[in-house]
Amino acid sequence: MDYYLDIENSTNRLIDEYIKYNSLVIAFDFDDTVYDFHKKGRIYSEVVSLLQTLKSINCYLICWTGQEDLDFVKTYLIENRIPFDAINENPPFHKSTSRKVYANAYLDDRAGLRQVYDELNNVTKILSKHKYI
Ligand SMILES: [Mg+2]
Repeated sequence: MDYYLDIENSTNRLIDEYIKYNSLVIAFDFDDTVYDFHKKGRIYSEVVSLLQTLKSINCYLICWTGQEDLDFVKTYLIENRIPFDAINENPPFHKSTSRKVYANAYLDDRAGLRQVYDELNNVTKILSKHKYI
């Protein structure tokens, strides 16, 4: 019987969705996920590298941020080669007036970043192993 909190279930769900749409929608947080908000010298290269991999396999990336200066966010993302398709906006293929952006997974330092990071890495490995990407 499926237990909804099993990581395997959410991993398999992402794999099924990728195979169905040849894409995933990934929302990623800005502060302390790809940007060193507290100026502690943190580097977020693993998350950035994962986002670059996801972009390379046709995923749609939304920066989902509480930052008010979106020009700063956009400039930072471009200058640091962090791929994104939208900032705080739903994908054009997902029509919704909801303030919550739609995504298949959310990478956020306040929402189990390590688990989602590991899971998405696993998804790319499994898709590659089975030659879906
Ligand atoms: Mg954050």
